[in-house]
Amino acid sequence: AGVDTGARARSAPPRRGTMSTDDDATALRLDRDHVFHSWSAQAHLNPLVIAGGLGSTVWDHAGRRYLDFSSQLVNTNIGHQHPKVVAAIQEQAATLTTVAPATANLTRGRAAEKILSHAPAGFSSVFFTNGGADANENAIRMARLHTGRDKVVSAYRSYHGNTGAAVVATGDWRRVPNEYARAHVHHFGPYLYRSEFWATTPEQESERALHHLERVIQAEGPTSVAAILLETIPGTAGVLVPPPGYLAGVRAIADRYGILLILDEVMAGFGRTGEWFAFDSFDVVPDLITFAKGVNSGYVPAGGVILSEPIATTFDDRVFPGGLTYSGHPLAMGSIVAALDAMADERIVENAAAIGRDVLRPGLAELAEKNPLVGEVRGLGVFWAVELVKDQATREPVDAALMGRIKAGALARGLLPFLADNRVHVVPPCVVTPDEAATGLGLLTEVLAEVA
Ligand code: PLP
Repeated sequence: AGVDTGARARSAPPRRGTMSTDDDATALRLDRDHVFHSWSAQAHLNPLVIAGGLGSTVWDHAGRRYLDFSSQLVNTNIGHQHPKVVAAIQEQAATLTTVAPATANLTRGRAAEKILSHAPAGFSSVFFTNGGADANENAIRMARLHTGRDKVVSAYRSYHGNTGAAVVATGDWRRVPNEYARAHVHHFGPYLYRSEFWATTPEQESERALHHLERVIQAEGPTSVAAILLETIPGTAGVLVPPPGYLAGVRAIADRYGILLILDEVMAGFGRTGEWFAFDSFDVVPDLITFAKGVNSGYVPAGGVILSEPIATTFDDRVFPGGLTYSGHPLAMGSIVAALDAMADERIVENAAAIGRDVLRPGLAELAEKNPLVGEVRGLGVFWAVELVKDQATREPVDAALMGRIKAGALARGLLPFLADNRVHVVPPCVVTPDEAATGLGLLTEVLAEVA
């Protein structure tokens, strides 16, 4: 679909002079001795060395290559080392590498304009942050100030980032160490495959979850709820594509009680689902949109909040009490402009849709049919989860030891997977070619057959 980064990756070896197993050993030694890793017990780490990458491929110093089916935390939508984005960062670095947020800067203005060109009508400005968590922090703050209310309702199965309000809003296990800070946040949400309620169809699960949401809001007191914060498609928690009518139902409930709807598009936005925003597939428009990752594929840390006009005007004559030294950083802004241009020019979002429709959806359906470990596959575009179970009838999740064997088997075959709990997430870059997608699926199929 007009994307050539896969071909470049196949033809480009790692740079000469960088190929050395010694460098891999040094990287591992320095990492073990001096780098403190997130979400990990430090004594049990076994990290992969990544020294370089291009398109959908990464490699270590010795030249061992891996097809990147993780997109580095579901992030590199335009693939590794896109030449136009790298050049834009270099060009910006030669001109201006830092500037305070309160200044006017042409690159920042262009980045905001480009982001808004993909948002629905009625969105008028962009508040820049350094990543996804602080985007959600600030969106929650905006919602609280706009409504004069405190409470936030978010989903049980969600991840919104690892800072104060964002990790409290997060519904999955990551919030547990932060329970002490849970004031003013309440959880709900659908998940048909593991529904503990009476629902047996997606429509029933949608109805059940909406009913529960409305009861939560009524119990909390509707006039105390500032916002409903949702990932349009919860990603880390399992690519939980919302059931029919669900998001429209949430929007209707929010409107009924004067509550704002914040859609977290940090993982799902900017091409991953085969649309610019994931909510474009669901006929729903939020009040605030948070983004990061895919907006510039993480080449320079960046994120932000897209504000609809009524919320933006709240702050016309009133100070917004929030800001970050690196907000709207020139290198980040240059990379956003170039990344969004490349995505449009090279039809990268369309490529993600086509790969999902023509390769991943049918390939994963076949895998589900043939492999007894597969309980369910869910997703769209280049955003899929394969949920693995010991027994298809009881749906008991497979254990960590089996997931460890899957990881080892995939890496041994040159496939870098994204694993979460009992799931393999199939999340290659949006630029993945049909050949690469089919190759990766083939390798995954082999590994799962081996461990089944
Ligand atoms: N929101 C969602 C949906 C995410 O998936 C993530 C990260 O994975 C975040 C927020 C947090 O983003 P960051 O890690 O850039 O702070």
